[in-house]
Amino acid sequence: MTQAVMIYNAGGLEPLGQVSLRHAVLMMWRGVARAFETVPGQYVGQFPRPRSVELVRYVYAKWKYERTGRLSPSTDNVLRRDRHKCAYCGRAATTRDHVMPLSRGGRTEWSNLVAACRACNEAKKARTPAEAGLRLRLQPFVPTLNDLYPNRL
Ligand SMILES: [Zn+2]
Repeated sequence: MTQAVMIYNAGGLEPLGQVSLRHAVLMMWRGVARAFETVPGQYVGQFPRPRSVELVRYVYAKWKYERTGRLSPSTDNVLRRDRHKCAYCGRAATTRDHVMPLSRGGRTEWSNLVAACRACNEAKKARTPAEAGLRLRLQPFVPTLNDLYPNRL
């Protein structure tokens, strides 16, 4: 289970997005962020366990838009973009599917990835949706941070 930690710009007023607890602690360890809100009595190594962190140096808000093109299409992020709904049947999705399969030259990039339930993913195998008789209910797109965390920014 990954625990999301909110990142605030220096000053603590401007939310920039979320990272995993591990990533947040790494930022603290590197000295680029410090704990802003902590979970009382809990520690991660030498650090109080952060609920949110604050950047040590202020970065301009433009940062969050520039960064968005580099959001990784991890399974978690693809599921988040597609609201945890299968792109083929609309049921709860738990996996990430390559629309054009890797074995057929499909790339691991946002435009070729959709959230899928296990049943559809397994039924599709190394075929295109058309070959598998599945219809894509959405057009995969490159999300912004706002698309992934609509309630946070
Ligand atoms: Zn499905």
